[in-house]
Amino acid sequence: MYSHAFSLLFVAFLVLMLAVRFWLASRQLRHVLANRGAVPAEFAATITLGAHQKAADYTVARTKFGIVTMFVNAAVLVGFTLLGGLQWLSVQVFGLTGGGMAYQIGLLVAFAAISGLIDVPIDWYRQFRLEERFGFNKMTPGLFFADMAKGLLLAVVLGLPLAWIVLTLMSSAGELWWLYAWLVWSGFQLLMMVLFPTVIAPLFNKFTPLSDETLKSRIEGLMQRVGFASKGLFVMDGSKRSAHGNAYFSGFGAAKRIVFFDTLLARLAPQEIEAVLAHELGHFKLKHIVKRIGLMFALSLAFLALLGWLKNQVWFYTGLGVSPLIAPGQGNDALALILFMLALPVFTFLFGPLASLSSRKHEFEADAFAAQHTDARDLVSALVKMYEDNASTLTPDPLHSAFYDSHPPASVRIQHLHRHPNMAHA
Ligand SMILES: [Zn+2]
Repeated sequence: MYSHAFSLLFVAFLVLMLAVRFWLASRQLRHVLANRGAVPAEFAATITLGAHQKAADYTVARTKFGIVTMFVNAAVLVGFTLLGGLQWLSVQVFGLTGGGMAYQIGLLVAFAAISGLIDVPIDWYRQFRLEERFGFNKMTPGLFFADMAKGLLLAVVLGLPLAWIVLTLMSSAGELWWLYAWLVWSGFQLLMMVLFPTVIAPLFNKFTPLSDETLKSRIEGLMQRVGFASKGLFVMDGSKRSAHGNAYFSGFGAAKRIVFFDTLLARLAPQEIEAVLAHELGHFKLKHIVKRIGLMFALSLAFLALLGWLKNQVWFYTGLGVSPLIAPGQGNDALALILFMLALPVFTFLFGPLASLSSRKHEFEADAFAAQHTDARDLVSALVKMYEDNASTLTPDPLHSAFYDSHPPASVRIQHLHRHPNMAHA
């Protein structure tokens, strides 16, 4: 009874998600193509028609590719669940391992391996066809596979022990296992925040301390003005993978550091780099990072509590095409974890716009912070260069942007900066 109802609900949400995403993508395509002919008036002096059209073509190509991958992923999802793929896999792994923890871990590994393999051609096409066509790909196939091998190694070294701990808690820590699992998960996230900048990212890229003395003293002046203590100013060799430029902030405590892509440094003037850095420092000073981490912890607690309840409901398994009786007395914890990871995004996608909205609010606040501590005109010219270099469209569909964009559209962002009090008398 419940099982059929849950299957229907799952299908209904999946169809709704595909319809909404497809509708938004087609709006985006129409809007970008309709505005391809002319550079928007406010950018006419700074962006060439050629650059504008490249951005339009790049956006169209990425949106179309996004539609294809969306349907591929939906087919894989239905294949694993309602069409019985996971059930089949579970039977095979059970036969091979004879149950117990070996079965649980084996099922997780087999599922991750199959999902990972399906992603390989998608990632390959994105990098060596799509990005390549627009001159953004700087990767060699050798680097592509080396990255993949390192990712796999990290998954084994970090992911397997974590999976083992969570599965052990699920099977033997009693009714409140999800609370202990949440503590372990939160500790793991904090550990990652320290390990990512210091150990993991350096496996993939070279980080060199910023050496340009004039730029360095300029930046140190800014950090003093806003009261930010960090010795970590690094340049990353982003150019070995992509021509896209960026700057980001990572880590916390003694491990906190600011990272500039070499592609960005090569393109921006010193005062523009200072303005971009002021924006990043704004995120830190305005506690955006702490708020985001807090929200992440609260959400993971809620989701783990939900999983704690779902894993005892037979309809949760049967409704998603899996029999929970495959391993009697052996536990269905790995199955529950996989089904939860597969089904959750289908039921939560409507909350995506809320996350985008809150992220855009933070971007406006960080921009205002930068305008207050540096010259807003430098941030505007840096943004124009960054949007141009990344071939980000200047004319996104407003609804598509509201649904997905973590950063406000360029024109809106620049309008806000022009309204900043410092802009008027600067
Ligand atoms: Zn930002």
